[in-house]
Amino acid sequence: FEGMTIVELAKRTGESIRVLQDILVNVGEKVDSEFDPLSIDVAELVAMEVGVNVRRLHSNEGAKVLVRPAVVTVMGHVDHGKTSLLDALRETSVAAKEAGGITQHIGAFVVSMPSGASITFLDTPGHAAFSAMRARGAAVTDIVVLVVAADDGVMPQTLEAMAHAKAAGVPIVVAINKCDKPAADPERVRLQLASEGLPLEEMGGDVQVVEVSAVNKLGLDKLEECLLLQAELMDLKARIDGPAQAYVVEARLDRGRGPLATAIVKAGTLLCGQHVVVGSEWGRIRAIRDVVGKLTERGIPAMPVEIEGLRGLPMAGDDIVVVDSEERARMLSAGRKKKHEKNRLMKVDEEKIDTLDSSE
Ligand code: GDP
Ligand code: MG
Repeated sequence: FEGMTIVELAKRTGESIRVLQDILVNVGEKVDSEFDPLSIDVAELVAMEVGVNVRRLHSNEGAKVLVRPAVVTVMGHVDHGKTSLLDALRETSVAAKEAGGITQHIGAFVVSMPSGASITFLDTPGHAAFSAMRARGAAVTDIVVLVVAADDGVMPQTLEAMAHAKAAGVPIVVAINKCDKPAADPERVRLQLASEGLPLEEMGGDVQVVEVSAVNKLGLDKLEECLLLQAELMDLKARIDGPAQAYVVEARLDRGRGPLATAIVKAGTLLCGQHVVVGSEWGRIRAIRDVVGKLTERGIPAMPVEIEGLRGLPMAGDDIVVVDSEERARMLSAGRKKKHEKNRLMKVDEEKIDTLDSSE
């Protein structure tokens, strides 16, 4: 929708130019000519008003793209050690090293390798978070670490995690955990995974498997190496310059600082002072903090940042869109809120109809 004129927008939405012009006037935009390109947020707003869903497409054409770190999510069956593994990995992270482990939990952490490469881990394990994010169109995760307990083997949620990763087209690296236990049988886990259709590397496929113990902290560097290798194979790149395209991975309300959102930038650069729309909330970025809580001027791709200055609390998976002015931010947020409300009411209606149907 970037740079689209009202004539083109009319074609795309199937509405008349007159109707669209009226909407533009209503939102306080003046159109001198129907051939003037609209800014992307105005186009989104107008399209939203006429009930058309828009998806912002960011072109990387001609932009400088650089290699970026992978963003990793840990999934697996309950009690197989997801939280323990994240805790153990977090201990090897930049935050733990720089601040002696006493940093605030911001929803993500970064592990730096001796080579200078790094890996970003999302701090919330679990399938619900993964699916919720995906349902909102937030494709934040590049790689899934599938945790399987060596003593317990493949369980229902192991399969569920495999299905989620497959549906999202996200590659898996298997971490067979609890290998310190006497009852551990990693070979059995391998056979189970293979028979579930996971093409393991040692059997000619491309899925790497690492044996670890989250409690005894064994195999963690091997796991990190495998993740780096996987990231290399994926050739992850992102545009650095230009407006940020980012997603919320966690949000909370701080009594003194107000709504705080941990975000992962997917492309571009997020800058302090920018006006943003986050899901249906808006605000102006007052402060950006890095994983160790240090103030920084910018957020770049795959770098988790905590942003301060939003007017309301966004949700995990919400997109962050940079706009030109406070007025735009307010306008777009109001438009999105209205649309959500409309959808909600429509859903309620559908449910009512369902109830009527089933009571017949
Ligand atoms: P989650 O439900 O997947 O997050 O699993 P948790 O991390 O909470 O771990 C479940 C239980 O398994 C806890 O009692 C952990 O102490 C234990 N556990 C996790 N990792 C290991 C491990 O590598 N070895 C052993 N022996 N126990 C582990
Ligand atoms: Mg847990």
